[in-house]
Amino acid sequence: MIRIEDVIGVVEKNRPGADIDLIRRAYLFSALHHKGQKRASGEPYLVHPIEVANILAEMRLDEVSVSTGLLHDVVEDTLVDLDTIRSYFGDEITTLVDGLTKIAQISNLSREKQQAENVRKMVLAMVTDVRVVLIKLADRLHNMRTMQYLKPEKRARISQETLDIYAPIAHRLGMGKMRSELEDLSFQNLFPDEYKKLAKEVDARRPELEAILEKIRTTITARLHENEVPFVAIEGRVKRLYSLWKKLRKQRIMIEQVYDLIATRIITPNDKTYCYLTLGVVHDIWTPVPERFKDWIAIPRDNLYRSLHTSVIGDGGQPFEVQIRTQEMHQIAEEGVAAHWKYKESKLGTREDDESLDELRKTVEKLLLPLVEDTQANDDSEDFIESLKLDLFPKDVYAFTPMGKVIQLPRGSTPIDFAYAIHSEVGDACTGAKINGRMVPIKTELQNGDVVEIMTTSNSKPSRDWLNYVVTSKAKNRIRHFISEQQRADSIDLGRKLLEKESSRFNVAPKKLLNNDGEMRRIANEYGLGRPEDLLASIGYGKTLPRNVISKHLGAEKFAELDPENRKETRISTGVKAVKKLIGLGEDAIVVKGVDNLLTTRARCCNPIRGEDIIGYISLGKGIVVHNKRCKNVSQLMVNRDRIVEVDWAKSEKEEVQSVRLLVTTENRNGMLAGITNAIADIKTGIRDASANISRDDRGLIEVTVEVFDKKHLDRVVSAVEHVAGVMSVERVNA
Ligand code: MN
Repeated sequence: MIRIEDVIGVVEKNRPGADIDLIRRAYLFSALHHKGQKRASGEPYLVHPIEVANILAEMRLDEVSVSTGLLHDVVEDTLVDLDTIRSYFGDEITTLVDGLTKIAQISNLSREKQQAENVRKMVLAMVTDVRVVLIKLADRLHNMRTMQYLKPEKRARISQETLDIYAPIAHRLGMGKMRSELEDLSFQNLFPDEYKKLAKEVDARRPELEAILEKIRTTITARLHENEVPFVAIEGRVKRLYSLWKKLRKQRIMIEQVYDLIATRIITPNDKTYCYLTLGVVHDIWTPVPERFKDWIAIPRDNLYRSLHTSVIGDGGQPFEVQIRTQEMHQIAEEGVAAHWKYKESKLGTREDDESLDELRKTVEKLLLPLVEDTQANDDSEDFIESLKLDLFPKDVYAFTPMGKVIQLPRGSTPIDFAYAIHSEVGDACTGAKINGRMVPIKTELQNGDVVEIMTTSNSKPSRDWLNYVVTSKAKNRIRHFISEQQRADSIDLGRKLLEKESSRFNVAPKKLLNNDGEMRRIANEYGLGRPEDLLASIGYGKTLPRNVISKHLGAEKFAELDPENRKETRISTGVKAVKKLIGLGEDAIVVKGVDNLLTTRARCCNPIRGEDIIGYISLGKGIVVHNKRCKNVSQLMVNRDRIVEVDWAKSEKEEVQSVRLLVTTENRNGMLAGITNAIADIKTGIRDASANISRDDRGLIEVTVEVFDKKHLDRVVSAVEHVAGVMSVERVNA
């Protein structure tokens, strides 16, 4: 069984001067908190963090990474919280442990295979330090190596996840060795029968293959010596089982038809010239297959893999692959990002070392480039670890549905964006949201890994406010579309009512005009509008006055004759009664809801509340502005009588409160504010805010904003306040 001293030995060898004390402290902490826990194998749980730390030490990672390896499951699997970790080990390790805990939570959630790409991105988006990913990979590798104790279903699930998520991440980070081992272990656990069968087939041929490889190695060695081309090593290998299996399945071929079942790798000193010299020698020995030659040195792969690949026809007519690369290229191919720690130590070496250092820095940047928002290069070539702490905050945020589906959204998105991303209809019907099981305001910004549950009700509709809280164009377009549709429908409705009313005043039968499609179309055309609905909408929006429409319908002469304005009994009057008469009170008034909506808004000057007498004024582009009939501005508005319209309160289905501000003048004595607010609270009325002042003539001035349902309610509030001892007057004030 592995011991911590083994790990420390590796660290001391690989990183002289490392803070061993930190590792010991992490070990003791981990041992204390995992005490009594067992792995599926029956071993003490502690074996796992020590093995993970050992993998990290072998990768030559720093003491912080190795210590985090020891602590990585403490928050996930014991009662220890992050604050405790922080108090013992500081911010750096805490951030790493936190990142690992979050990734563990994601992986518990995501079950949908087609989501793999998004989950990969999310894992990378959630980390702010590359070391988190490396530690996670080491953790996964050890779990994969010790899977035999788990039940087959669990093995299959974890293996599938490894193939979908972690092997591709290792590949993305250029860690060829890690990727290979993860893939082969996954294959073995996911398809044990096929794995056994294939392994048997390869094993049967192994002696023969080894003999061929040995012969190739001898031949190449001799010819390189002969040509005085230096090399570091010649390796022969049989193709890995997982990639062999994939190839057999994809190309539907037999094992005998696999041309790269064996491959030879020649490692040269660190100068790419040797690679090309070696290539020349190889092509001189055997005939190359031209279309198989690939120069990944001149054009590196995305993950910075560099190598020459060529296939040649062997002595028995059997083709085989030769890979040629320098030592450094080889190291990057095997270890990827993790290779960088090695170079950190040799940074004070020769000029060539500095160049490779620089190249490695570029490697890291390129590897992470697609994930990094701010890609400005860091000119300080002092510390590699610093350069690895790249800010990986990407432009995107990844959140889950309760079913584990990943939804990718731009940063700043809210549950409304999320709802629209699921489906337009879900967005339209959204009434609320839960994030990670808790109700939140719908304008809450989503974070990576959030599980978002959208509440819907079938008759719910998008609100204009939402435009302030959404960032996705899908949500914006959909809400705008909905609003304009709704607005147009309301406008047509309103336009129809206004035109009907105006018709009656001119003794024109409303239906006769409105149902006369040809006539309506003719008038619409005169306004440059197409269809009758367009004309009605224009009236509803206040752009076209119904009076003018009637004029076009009747012609100037008849219009003048029938115009009630010209009849004696109607005078221009500012009185409410005259207005009532003017517009014929009582017949289907335009209804106003307690709250502002698309076509009616309550005037700021008088802030009418439910139950008060109101009057509407058609305002261009704003629809109908509703005033209290007693508002001082109404008399001025009466000048444009054509725009005055009768309105009435809709019967409210649910009681909606409206805010009203009251100014209370009192005697200057103690406790007035408390007395007033108590009186208001006693009649179960909400108070939005209240403040007290003293006037110059030594009176108390108390402003209080109350929430009332209607006029009656307000009257009760005013009366209650008036009865408080010391109150002199109560006035309503408007903004
Ligand atoms: Mn673990």
